[in-house]
Amino acid sequence: KIVVIGSSNTDMVVRTSHFPEKGETVLGGEFMMNPGGKGANQAVAAARMGGEVVFVCKIGKDVFGSQSAELFEKEGIDVSYVLVDEENHSGVALITVDANAENTIVVASGANAHLFPKDISSVESIFSPEGFVLLQLEIPVETVRYIAAAAKSKGGKVILNPAPACELPDEVFSGLYMLTPNEKEASMISGVNVQDLDSAKKAAEIIYKKGVEHVIVTMGAKGALVFDGLEYVFIEAQKVVAVDTTAAGDVFNGALVVALNEGKSIIEAAEFANKASAIAVTRLGAQASAPYRGEIMEEVSK
Ligand code: ADP
Repeated sequence: KIVVIGSSNTDMVVRTSHFPEKGETVLGGEFMMNPGGKGANQAVAAARMGGEVVFVCKIGKDVFGSQSAELFEKEGIDVSYVLVDEENHSGVALITVDANAENTIVVASGANAHLFPKDISSVESIFSPEGFVLLQLEIPVETVRYIAAAAKSKGGKVILNPAPACELPDEVFSGLYMLTPNEKEASMISGVNVQDLDSAKKAAEIIYKKGVEHVIVTMGAKGALVFDGLEYVFIEAQKVVAVDTTAAGDVFNGALVVALNEGKSIIEAAEFANKASAIAVTRLGAQASAPYRGEIMEEVSK
């Protein structure tokens, strides 16, 4: 089984002609309520790619949390470790989108910010020596550190998608099986301003030297760079007409972990992820845009 540990949010999106000034009320347009949160997005993407997924997260005792949990179940995700926080609300994101498709986002992390190491200790039994654990940074860093250490001590392979970009203590990196930053995150972690292949290579090398076994820098419409400490392999993005790149990275990571868990090589897995995320950017939404396995036409051979 693949263990995904991370955030679950409900995105509340309102379209508006313009953003309100301080104190102003704008009568907005269409309202959409979408399941989101990087952890949940990646868990759903992995499940749709055919992975057997256990999702560990913390929701509040409210309608948003129970709705999310229901959706996870519908996706075939094991929800035994969807924990309910009695004191804090479920994570929500308030999003406004104006006529130019610019957005403003305010996130109230709620229960996500209360997923602590003590919560994970009950889950430890699910770390298996051969298993993969996929993490992001929308839960407390101390929890990320704890999980990385716990999985390592049991032989599990931890993939950290260091999103959203934030400062991380160096101990987090040592012993990670893989780090999958986008360009902005790779820049922040390495101190190199990543904007093209050369700078991505430099950043990947610096990140590798922090103790990460494999680095994949995702580079948006350009593609992805894989570095294993010996060689660099650049995988060119698929040529598609992108309409919404939300959750491109989440679909990439979800697909990647499924392919790795099936025993595919890192390059094959990255190619598979590259195809899955290219489909996702042709569709609107976060979780909604994640493709199903059958949609990936040219399956990477084993
Ligand atoms: P994030 O969404 O985390 O910022 P990226 O923007 O790097 O991550 O996108 C992740 C992956 O999604 C890329 O490495 C690429 O494989 C794919 N991707 C993103 N944007 C496009 C695009 N416009 N066309 C094709 N593939 C894309």
